[in-house]
Amino acid sequence: MFDKLFSPIKINQCEIPNRLAVTAMVANYCNEDGTASDKYIAYHEAKAKGGWGLIITEDYAVNEHAMGYKYIGGLWNDGQIESHKKLTDAVHKYDSKIFAQIYHAGRQSGSLVNGGVQPMAPSAIPCPWLREMPRELTIAEIEQIVEDFGDTALRAKKAGFDGVEVHAAHGYLIAQFLSPYVNKRTDKYGGNFDNRTRFLKEIYENIRAKVGKDFAVTVRLSVVEDMPGGRDMAESRILAKLIEEWGFDALHVSCAVYGDHNRQIVSPMYVSHAWQADLAAEIKKIVNIPVFTVNRINDPRMAESLLEMDKADIIGMGRGSLADPDLPNKAKAGDLQSIRYCIGCLQGCTGALYVGGPITCLVNPSLGEEYKLDYSKVENPKSVLIAGAGPGGLEAARAAAMKGHSVSIYEKREFLGGQFRSAAYPPSKGELANYTTWVTNELEKLGVNIYLNTEVTKELILDKKPDVVIAATGGNPLVPPIKGIDKAHVVTAEDVLLGNVSVGDKIVVAGGGEVGSETAAHLGMQQREVSIVEMRSAICMDLDGVNKYYLKKILNEYEVGAYVNTKVVEILDDGVIVENSQGQFTLAAETVVLALGYKPNNGLTEQLKEIHHNVITIGGALKTGNALDAIKEGFDVGISL
Ligand code: SF4
Repeated sequence: MFDKLFSPIKINQCEIPNRLAVTAMVANYCNEDGTASDKYIAYHEAKAKGGWGLIITEDYAVNEHAMGYKYIGGLWNDGQIESHKKLTDAVHKYDSKIFAQIYHAGRQSGSLVNGGVQPMAPSAIPCPWLREMPRELTIAEIEQIVEDFGDTALRAKKAGFDGVEVHAAHGYLIAQFLSPYVNKRTDKYGGNFDNRTRFLKEIYENIRAKVGKDFAVTVRLSVVEDMPGGRDMAESRILAKLIEEWGFDALHVSCAVYGDHNRQIVSPMYVSHAWQADLAAEIKKIVNIPVFTVNRINDPRMAESLLEMDKADIIGMGRGSLADPDLPNKAKAGDLQSIRYCIGCLQGCTGALYVGGPITCLVNPSLGEEYKLDYSKVENPKSVLIAGAGPGGLEAARAAAMKGHSVSIYEKREFLGGQFRSAAYPPSKGELANYTTWVTNELEKLGVNIYLNTEVTKELILDKKPDVVIAATGGNPLVPPIKGIDKAHVVTAEDVLLGNVSVGDKIVVAGGGEVGSETAAHLGMQQREVSIVEMRSAICMDLDGVNKYYLKKILNEYEVGAYVNTKVVEILDDGVIVENSQGQFTLAAETVVLALGYKPNNGLTEQLKEIHHNVITIGGALKTGNALDAIKEGFDVGISL
């Protein structure tokens, strides 16, 4: 089934056992001094154990002012080598190979993460995203950074890495030099193509002179920046040929820079799977060194088909490895149902990173916890009864069953997944259902008793006498005391999404947060006339920048209207009276959809506490949150019983 995927490939002298690579992703798990922490080592070791052929680390800073994030690895001094040797030793216990990605963040950084030092760049133009003014590098500083790359590569070799990947993509310092969009220099490092590529060439030569001819040295390149005046594919073809000619051993084709809305370095679920593969294929046609492709490839069958079509030689799955570090072994065993697929939500990985935190994963709550998790079975299993089969309840059931407890989960509705089920209905969100099918499958394998259409009551608890009750009853939609809100044509967003109600052609959605905006997009795509009424100053405020960008595009495309700083005053039979700074006016509406948030549904907890001494309340039943929080909380409670 996966003949190509599980065939070896050589990069320089490094024999990689299969074509599945963990591509570089900042985890923010290292110590502040750039040394590898236990958390960081165990995180990578889990992937090696899971069968990935090649692991490329996050970007290692080449000097102490080269960092783009506070807790990334570094090999800018010899004192850092020992901890990273522990990492390579841990990975080499398995068949995997490991490369260190090395970089300088340049202007895509800030003084806050670099000890107060102003960011540096080829020219004094700020990153459109971080916006701190960088200082233009002097020739002497450029020459020193070239040396730093070579020294860092040599330290990587001493630390036991099988190779280095020079990060010349995604708008970091090397990419800044390559790009006329950022590089406005008129000296030997700027202006024409040869001058802009000089920095990369010198870095390669410096590295090669220090690590020798047999050490794998690869490069990652954004072949398309998709910024006004940025680098394009026509130029990247020429550069790819040069990269091979200089002596790089492989080329990792990627796209984009910070601030690029259309393509995104890490694409959300709104973007097509494997959309960069055609760009990799173009490069592959004109070079003879191995070519990587990456981005939104989450299924081993997709990876195999890309290899069959000769689009690339190695398939990168960064987020796929976060969601399921065991993906390669499961694919090899033909156990595709067991794979926990990345759903492209961006909530745990980049969502956490962009606010400076360590990465997590919505579907994999054990990510980053590998160093301390104990999956051994408990000596005295308990009977655990879980009320509510939303994401938190399901994850609590899975974790508790893994520890050997006897678990039963009850759901008053006829399906599993709670609000996560309806969340999969809006445009581009269908992959959310992957998680529900995966966890259901796991619960069946673990022998969890699942009861649908069954509400947990005091009587049920008195009858079953569980040792532990977990109340995971989620939240109920907020229904404020607005005149007319009890009319028959006023419905909830969840009912609309699940198709439980019929709606008219003119619709007002009250609430422009994530649920309201997505529901409006869902209805807009049905060619209905939809208006969002939001009290805050903007819609989609609770979404991260990337998901917000794509959702707003859909809303615009389907001409969904939005009234912000506007509140609903009264619901009429054929409209909604709203009010804003312009005064009161009426919007015509055959249906009014409520998407005003949720409030904890904790009534059951209060009742059960009267008759049971061990009731644990989790997720939305305790505090309004999101699926990321609920799944993590469910897992933490289940695993600690
Ligand atoms: Fe994928 Fe979402 Fe996990 Fe990120 S948080 S790895 S996008 S499932």
